[in-house]
Amino acid sequence: MEIAIIAHDGKKAEMVQFLNEHKAIFHQKNITLVSTGTTGKKVKKAGFEVLRMLSGPLGGDAQIAARVAEGKCNMVIFFRDPLEKHPHEPDVLMLMRLCDVHDVPLATNLASAELFVKAI
Ligand code: PGA
Repeated sequence: MEIAIIAHDGKKAEMVQFLNEHKAIFHQKNITLVSTGTTGKKVKKAGFEVLRMLSGPLGGDAQIAARVAEGKCNMVIFFRDPLEKHPHEPDVLMLMRLCDVHDVPLATNLASAELFVKAI
């Protein structure tokens, strides 16, 4: 199972804490983590194996969207920061749209991410 982990800058600390709280699940052998560039660096630093894409503003969200469209990515956990502006908002919208097109579960905040983890 491939799970995408993405966090906007204002949510990266929350994302690392979330991963650490669910270490046992995210270290499982049948789970592959994929992340946008800067998020991926933090995920790696926290001790997880992760496949890193480009940084979000440089196309990382679009790369993950493509993996969703190709059926490679099975779940997206995206800690979005609704209080900031993002130059790559169109890519973020594309990612969310493709999750809906392909019926891929998408969590965009901590509370829904916690619920997803219970379902893994
Ligand atoms: P980043 O991108 O992990 O490279 O910061 C995330 C995003 O802003 O979509």
